[in-house]
Amino acid sequence: MLFGGIEAGGTKFVCAVGTGPDDLRALTSFPTTTPGETLERAIAFFRDQETPPEAVGIGSFGPVDPDPASPRYGTITTTPKPGWANTDFAGTIRRALGVPVAFDTDVNAAALGEHRWGAAQGLDTVLYLTVGTGVGGGGLVGGQRLHGLVHPEMGHVFVPRHPDDPFGGTCPFHGVCLEGMASGPAIEARWGQPGRELPPDHPAWDIEAHYLAYAVVNFIVTLSPQRVILGGGVMHQTHLFGRLRTKVQQILNGYVQAPALLDEIDAYIVPPGLGDRAGVLGALALAQEAVAGAGSRGG
Ligand code: ZN
Repeated sequence: MLFGGIEAGGTKFVCAVGTGPDDLRALTSFPTTTPGETLERAIAFFRDQETPPEAVGIGSFGPVDPDPASPRYGTITTTPKPGWANTDFAGTIRRALGVPVAFDTDVNAAALGEHRWGAAQGLDTVLYLTVGTGVGGGGLVGGQRLHGLVHPEMGHVFVPRHPDDPFGGTCPFHGVCLEGMASGPAIEARWGQPGRELPPDHPAWDIEAHYLAYAVVNFIVTLSPQRVILGGGVMHQTHLFGRLRTKVQQILNGYVQAPALLDEIDAYIVPPGLGDRAGVLGALALAQEAVAGAGSRGG
């Protein structure tokens, strides 16, 4: 039985068919354009497979409606991305392919993928943050994907300003929230060039680590995750991990007494074990859960 996964990002879609990281039968990516064109391309990818998937999982940018009991389940709701607000993403895929479709946020899917095959194996409370075009967070708490009223919007927590940073922030809703200060576009707006062009000794990175560290500390003291995984394009700057670990320890100041934080932080704040495939593999894992769930309900 093969599964399909869609990692839907604001700039690109990644689609895969397989059963896991060691058994990916097909993988493709293409730019996110209009909903009609982009979803049609995803549908065509799955239809063109010799063995079509038995279920499809979607990890999507949002905000989304992730509540399976809601009539708007699987819909992208209020995104500022042009054309995508109120897109019935899961429903469109389900009707086109005629298979079960499971849906969650991109970061919850990535956390699930890391739990199944990556850096969060054997843990039941983990945080996954992505720092790229946007900043988002998801995870598992007690083994369950993190949902609630809607879903967490961890990219929009408020973090204290770095003393050397007068930047006004890029978030259209809040200005100086985490995403407004630490996303890829925020780095580019602050310095006039994209982060990938800034050398590792540029002051940009101390400021970046400052905002990420305060956010990670806020999540450590609220969720008490057993591990914190950071992915996304900005985290390709691997020197950020060392800065981030040091600052997290400084800010916590020994308050949370756990060996993972005090002595083993190199293994606590880590990149995704699945690399840039965490999202699409997590979407595959969502599809597997959908089929297992249907089976256990007798469907
Ligand atoms: Zn914001």
